[in-house]
Amino acid sequence: MRRVVCPGSFDPVTNGHLDIIGRTSRLYDEVVVAVLINVEKKSLFTVDERIEMLTAVTKEYGNVRVEKFHGLLVDFCKQQGIPAIVKGLRAISDFDYELQMAQLNYRMSGVETLFMSTNPEYSFLSSSRLKEIARYGGDVSGLVPDLVKELLVERLRG
Ligand code: ADP
Repeated sequence: MRRVVCPGSFDPVTNGHLDIIGRTSRLYDEVVVAVLINVEKKSLFTVDERIEMLTAVTKEYGNVRVEKFHGLLVDFCKQQGIPAIVKGLRAISDFDYELQMAQLNYRMSGVETLFMSTNPEYSFLSSSRLKEIARYGGDVSGLVPDLVKELLVERLRG
């Protein structure tokens, strides 16, 4: 069984994330989407809400499982028997940080990191930008699945 992990905060999941997850699901037997529990970072959606959204929008792929983790990603990989991490790269600005993380993770555990280039349609898209647009009443259609759009608008309306 060839298994891989796609980690992130997914607060909330965007079409940019889904593009990476979907393309990865065609290359591996199973994709584990791992939602980071970070108590220090203020999030819009709870971890369980994020998992619920991810589970709904990745169902059609058929080989995606959504889990949460805290602590080191490489420890999660070890527990789950996962030898590699897939990360989306949007721009050069992502590269510095991601390269360091990839090298550190390999040094700590031997877990490999593979980079997938973003679909240019979403290269400008991050969850934080998305929330900013939605907060000020901008239209996020086409940037997130409809289900996420509805929940986002509802949450930001208070
Ligand atoms: P963000 O809050 O920046 O959207 P996350 O921490 O949830 O990001 O991201 C998880 C992973 O998804 C990271 O590897 C990130 O590079 C990748 N990612 C996020 N947005 C995109 C996108 N638009 N295209 C490709 N990869 C993306």
